[in-house]
Amino acid sequence: MRYTSYFIPTHKEVPSDAEVVSHQLMVRAGMIRKLTSGTYTYLPAGLRAIRKVEAIIREEMNRAGAIEILMPAVQPAELWQESGRWEHYGRELLRFRDRHDREACFGPTHEEVITDLVRKEIHSYKQMPINLYQIQTKFRDEIRPRFGIMRAREFIMKDAYSFDVDEEGANRSYEVMYEAYSRIFRRCGLRFRAVEADTGTIGGRYSHEFMVLAETGEDQIVNCTACSYAANLERAEVRPNDAPPVPGSDPLGPLTAAATPGMRTVEEVAAFLSVSPNQIVKTLVLVADDHPVAVLIRGDHDLNEAKLRNLLGAQTVELASERVVEETTAAPMGFAGPVGLKAKIVADNAIKTMRNFVTGGNQKDLHHVNVNLERDFRVDQFGDLRVITPADRCPRCGRPIEFGRGIEVGHIFKLGTKYSQALNAVFLNREGKESPIIMGCYGIGVGRTVAAAIEQNHDADGIVFPIPIAPFEVTILPLQMHDLEVMEAADTIHEGLTGAGIDTLLDDRHERPGFKFNDADLLGIPIRVTVGAKGLKNGQVEIKLRSETETRFVPLDHAASFVKDKVETLYDSIE
Ligand code: ATP
Ligand code: MG
Repeated sequence: MRYTSYFIPTHKEVPSDAEVVSHQLMVRAGMIRKLTSGTYTYLPAGLRAIRKVEAIIREEMNRAGAIEILMPAVQPAELWQESGRWEHYGRELLRFRDRHDREACFGPTHEEVITDLVRKEIHSYKQMPINLYQIQTKFRDEIRPRFGIMRAREFIMKDAYSFDVDEEGANRSYEVMYEAYSRIFRRCGLRFRAVEADTGTIGGRYSHEFMVLAETGEDQIVNCTACSYAANLERAEVRPNDAPPVPGSDPLGPLTAAATPGMRTVEEVAAFLSVSPNQIVKTLVLVADDHPVAVLIRGDHDLNEAKLRNLLGAQTVELASERVVEETTAAPMGFAGPVGLKAKIVADNAIKTMRNFVTGGNQKDLHHVNVNLERDFRVDQFGDLRVITPADRCPRCGRPIEFGRGIEVGHIFKLGTKYSQALNAVFLNREGKESPIIMGCYGIGVGRTVAAAIEQNHDADGIVFPIPIAPFEVTILPLQMHDLEVMEAADTIHEGLTGAGIDTLLDDRHERPGFKFNDADLLGIPIRVTVGAKGLKNGQVEIKLRSETETRFVPLDHAASFVKDKVETLYDSIE
C-alpha cells in the first residue's frame, strides 16, 4: 500500500478529551475519529487492526466448533419484557419507537434474540450441543463513555451463545470457550490472565473475565504467587480464618460507653480513643431489596457490595439514605452500632475472632468500648463480605497473593436456564421429556482488544503493535523521494513483500525523513525498512524492529527475504 493513495491522517496534537494513552495514540496515529460522545469512525489503519482481531476470533471460534450467524441490531421490546430485562437493564439500554409506535431497543447484547431463535428452531436433544456466534455492532448508553473505543457507546463485539442438554455438556461448552479465548488472546500477542469474576446484570452463576494486563487498566485483579488462582478484586474470596490476629485481650472487658463528640469516621474514632482501626467494627446500614440491613466490617477493611448481594440473595444492595440510617439506628450517621440494634445484622468473618472492640453507640456523639460478640449482641449471619487486601492469603492454597491491573477484553458466563426458562426455550430429551436448554454466553470486545493492546504495548514515541494485529506488518521509508535509485529500490522491496502476502506500507510522501520516522513509530508498525541514498551506495538498506533499538544493514538483494524471515520469527515468538 502506498501512503499517498491511502488515508492515514496522523497528527501531533494530543486530543484534549483523551485521558489514556491508547485513546491519544489511536487518534494521533489516524486510527479513529470521534463523531459524538462514545461513537467513533474507524479510519483505515484502525479498521485494519480491528479486522485482524476479528480474523483471529473467527478462526478460533470456528476451530472450536462455533457457527457464525448475524442477528439484527434492533430488537423488539417484547422479547426484553419476556426476559424481564426491559425493566431491569436500566438506562444503558437505548430504547425508541418505530413508525408503528412499537417499542424497540438497540441491542447491547443478544441473549433474548438468540433464545428466541433457538426456541423456534431447536426442539430435540439431537440438535445439541450447538454454539452460535456473531461479530456485530452493539450499543450501550454508557453513563460515562471514555477512553476512546475502550468504553464506547457504540462498539463491535463478538458474542457467542452455547446450548446444551445437561449441566455436564454446558460445562464442556464453557471449557471449550475458555480454551478458545486463551488461544485468541495469545494469538493477538497479548499478555493476559483469565480471572474469576462476578456475573453482573447478564445473570448466571459463574464467569471468567479475560484481562489484558496493563497498569492503566480499570479493573483490579488478584492472583496467587504460587497456584493458578486469579480473580477480579470484586470477586476474590477471602479465607475465613485468614483475618490476621487482632490485638485485644481475653478476658472480656466491661462494656463501656465513651463520649466521642463529632467523631464519625474510623480514623477520627481511632485517633480520639487511641486504638488502631482494626480494633474498631464499623456498622454500615444498607438497603437490600427495600429492607434495611446492618453490616459489620472491621475498621480497616472495606465492604464488598457484590458479596453482600450474593450472601443475602438480593437483587440490589445500596447504602441507606441518611433518613433510613436514622430510622434504623435512632442516631445520626456515623454512630451506628450493633448493641441494642433492632435490625438484621450480618457480619464479615473477620469479626468472629475479634474481642473487646469499639463500635458506634446508636446515639449522637457516643461509641461503645469493649464490645463483644454474643455477650453484647447477636449476628444473624456471617459471611465473606469484605474486599481482599494484600495482607490476605490465596483462598485456594494459602500462599501470598499479589495485586495487579487489567483491562477486561473478554467475558465468559454460565447462564444456566435463566433465559431458556424465561422465554420457554425447551427441548425433548432422550427420554422424551421436556426440559429447558442450558445456556452459556461468551463476549469479546473487538475494539477494546485493539485499545488494550496499545495500552499494554507502547513507548514514548507511539504504539508498539504485536505483529498479528498491527495495521501493517512492514513499513518502507524511502528517504530521498527525488532520488530515482532510492525510489526504485523501495518499490522493488514493496512489490516483493506485497507479492509474498505481507502487509506493507510504502511511505511515499514527500516529507522530511524525521517526519516519516516519527509517523512510523507513532503507528507502531513492527518492521521498518529504511531506504537511503547513503546505504544504497554500499548496496544496503537498513532494517529495524519497532520493539528494539538496534538497526542492521542488509544487502538490497536480500532485503525482501530477510524481512520475510523476520515476519515469520515475530509470529513464531507469539504462537
Ligand atoms: P464492563 O464491565 O467493562 O462494562 P461488561 O461486563 O459490561 O464490561 P460484557 O457485557 O461482558 O461487558 O461484554 C462483553 C465484552 O464487550 C467485554 O468483555 C468488553 O470487552 C466489551 N465491552 C463491554 N462494554 C464495552 C464498551 N462500552 N465499549 C467497548 N467494549 C465494551
Ligand atoms: Mg458494562
